Amino acid sequence: MTHLNETQITELKQLLANPKKIAIIPHRNVDGDAMGSTLGLYHILKQLNHNITVVVPNEIPDYLQWIPGTKEATLVYEGSNVGQAIKTLIEADLIFTLDFNAFHRTGEQMESVLKTLETTFVMIDHHEKPDGYAKYIFSDIEYSSTCQMVYDFVQQLEISQYINLDAATCLYTGIATDSGSFRFPRTTGNLHRIVADLIDKGVNNSQIHVNLYDNGDYNRLQILGKALTNLKVLPEYKTSYITLSQEEQNALNVKKGDTEGIVNYGLTIKDIDFTAFFTEVKEENMIKISFRSQGNFDVNQFARNHFNGGGHKNAAGGKSFDSLEDTITKFITILAIEKK
Ligand code: 5GP
Ligand code: MN
Repeated sequence: MTHLNETQITELKQLLANPKKIAIIPHRNVDGDAMGSTLGLYHILKQLNHNITVVVPNEIPDYLQWIPGTKEATLVYEGSNVGQAIKTLIEADLIFTLDFNAFHRTGEQMESVLKTLETTFVMIDHHEKPDGYAKYIFSDIEYSSTCQMVYDFVQQLEISQYINLDAATCLYTGIATDSGSFRFPRTTGNLHRIVADLIDKGVNNSQIHVNLYDNGDYNRLQILGKALTNLKVLPEYKTSYITLSQEEQNALNVKKGDTEGIVNYGLTIKDIDFTAFFTEVKEENMIKISFRSQGNFDVNQFARNHFNGGGHKNAAGGKSFDSLEDTITKFITILAIEKK
């Protein structure tokens, strides 16, 4: 855990006292917390007359496109605006990195530029084992979400009066998604008090849940149906897993974001405390893996030790460069050792 000390808070207040060029960056393959925290901070700092761009590593999935600021404030790095995105990063006086703590989480393309910069970095993040690139580090795995950390960060900087309706909507969104709609263990009384404050600021909480979860199309349910058909249970290891091959994804026309949340179904089975979701990504010659657990089984360690990944104790991700079949074989072999 690294929190900002008094001196750092004073320095940051001074840095933000005059208009600056600011870039705010989430991790690659953004989720609700990544977009909510970066755009939430954008809406707050904008009122201090800074010139701010949220530079998103790759495309933003449809289910998050409604978040306030998505259209006017974001620039996607991996795409036709790459030149402008690079320029924005190089010219920034200050770069905030939110919801991740190592440059490689932005993907190889953006990482290659970030590595060369001498800019002052501010990290706000709730994952384990932060890298050392940032001068200002607010890193704490006890937080439910990076959005909750942004809420505390702006209190510390005494600029919380700038949490307007747009900012509050963004912060609520990331808190809701990263806490599994207020059910994961980091959902404390304090978190509910923060959420209450955001609702008191006018956030339309019911509508946000509709936007996030009741806004899918028929095809998304067909994809879910296929995934559930592929679901396997290994009761001896209290484990379940789902696979989606590239062929299956092509047949169902799977787009970015379509498989979001599917991994959680593996944990809804009685006595299952660990689940994994393997998605074949032919374009990158790899298998993307999501891990989830309930209780003490540490999927962050599991992903770090065996699948080139990481994350949190109960939610992590990783990748494999073997075939889908070989990846599953390897997974089951490891289970026999780790989940005896
Ligand atoms: P998801 O399964 O939703 O992609 O990711 C779950 C959690 O694990 C998220 O908090 C995400 O930031 C983290 N995560 C996903 N993939 C990776 C990875 O390759 N490396 C690391 N360090 N964390 C990951
Ligand atoms: Mn997060």
